[in-house]
Amino acid sequence: MSKDNITDIAVIGGGASGFAAAIEAKTILPKAKVVILEKLDRVGRKILATGNGRCNLSNINLSADHYHGSVKNIMRIISATPSAKEFFGSIGVICSADAKGRIYPRSNSAATVLSALRLRAEELGIIERCGFEANFIESTPEYFRISSASGEKYPCRRVIVAAGGYAAPQFGTDGSVIRLLRSKGCHTTKICPAVAPLRVRPELLRGLKGVRAKGRVMAYTGGRLLKEEVGEIQFTDTALSGICVFNMAHLVSQYDGRLTLRLDLAADMDQEQLDGYLRVIQYQRARQTAEELLTGIFPRSLAVYLTKKALGKPLTVLISELRDTELKQVSQFIKKLDFEVLGSAPWKDAQVTSGGISGECVDERLQLRSEKGIFLCGEILDVDGDCGGYNLQWAWSSGILAGRSCADSLRGGLS
Ligand SMILES: Cc1cc2nc3c(=O)[nH]c(=O)nc-3n(C[C@H](O)[C@H](O)[C@H](O)COP(=O)(O)OP(=O)(O)OC[C@H]3O[C@@H](n4cnc5c(N)ncnc54)[C@H](O)[C@@H]3O)c2cc1C
Repeated sequence: MSKDNITDIAVIGGGASGFAAAIEAKTILPKAKVVILEKLDRVGRKILATGNGRCNLSNINLSADHYHGSVKNIMRIISATPSAKEFFGSIGVICSADAKGRIYPRSNSAATVLSALRLRAEELGIIERCGFEANFIESTPEYFRISSASGEKYPCRRVIVAAGGYAAPQFGTDGSVIRLLRSKGCHTTKICPAVAPLRVRPELLRGLKGVRAKGRVMAYTGGRLLKEEVGEIQFTDTALSGICVFNMAHLVSQYDGRLTLRLDLAADMDQEQLDGYLRVIQYQRARQTAEELLTGIFPRSLAVYLTKKALGKPLTVLISELRDTELKQVSQFIKKLDFEVLGSAPWKDAQVTSGGISGECVDERLQLRSEKGIFLCGEILDVDGDCGGYNLQWAWSSGILAGRSCADSLRGGLS
């Protein structure tokens, strides 16, 4: 094969990490021919959906506590690459943080983030090739040959695999490239949806669909507290949702079948304060039925649900007739509402993949140990972060490192 027909760097996947990798590699090696091979008819479909269309692209509070997975040096990789503000500043995107430290583009628009990435890529001369679904990477002594599902072959000197994981397959990521990498000697850790709603027994949620309430979510296994977070809890007909629930989903892979979520729906009061509050209500609403006991504290359907479940009897009884022990039962129930977790929501409702190609399969430069010349970045690796910009930060940082390492491996070798 003539040298001219061989692309220097082929990036599989036109998502967050793929763009970061391609831009970094081409910036280091301006003469290199860099191509992004994207399966869908457009690049960056998932980027457009991030942060409800606003793209929460990083967080000012970056620390190891927010990341999970077998890649050992996650924080080292993040600190060795430009911060999101620096990276996006260099491509003309101004960013700012909200009160919770979540970083967004000033435009509040994911579309402008994708546009800025594409403009930078175009300026550099990176080629976008859409509609190419990589399904095999063949190695010859001199180069790699990436085959598409339709039989097309793409020869290249280096490969950066940035094809994402299994989460949200509607945006092009169905885990097929993870399976492809198994044929290259890679192994995976346990894979399951993360940053996702958690399924519980639907009969326990009857009457709560669509309800939102502030509270504390605590994840327990065998009576041991694993993690807790305060925020908005959302109820669907089959699952608990909301950011604080999403952030417990990574525990499912480790504690499958042994995970309980405990909700404290009055996290702003201690037990004594809540008891006292209910006694005042009893006095104020003496002639109302128990149905009105929690009116004004919770949305109507949640107020009725909690009182009914706690008392275990019809709510036609007058509030004045409730015994002290019954009031106590209600207030304790509000602070300790337990749900056994049946599993995560399906992939289409998950934002991230927990698990992936094991950290043992790549070196500190994110190059495959089993096959030199292939680099991995983004969600395909066994790294997942909490909700709040941590996953995109990993995509940018690992993409930049993979692009840099790949360019370094070619340096001096370009004709
Ligand atoms: C609804 C939603 C909202 C989210 N919001 C946020 C947020 O606000 N902040 C945050 O930090 N994270 C968020 N995330 C998570 C974040 O988007 C991902 O972690 C991140 O995009 C992963 O980047 P990646 O480059 O690894 O993969 P992706 O961005 O998923 O890109 C992979 C690309 O590879 C392509 N591809 C797949 N297979 C092939 C193949 N065989 N051949 C060629 N191309 C292929 C795909 O089509 C896709 O374009 C969100 C996720 C979802 C689903």
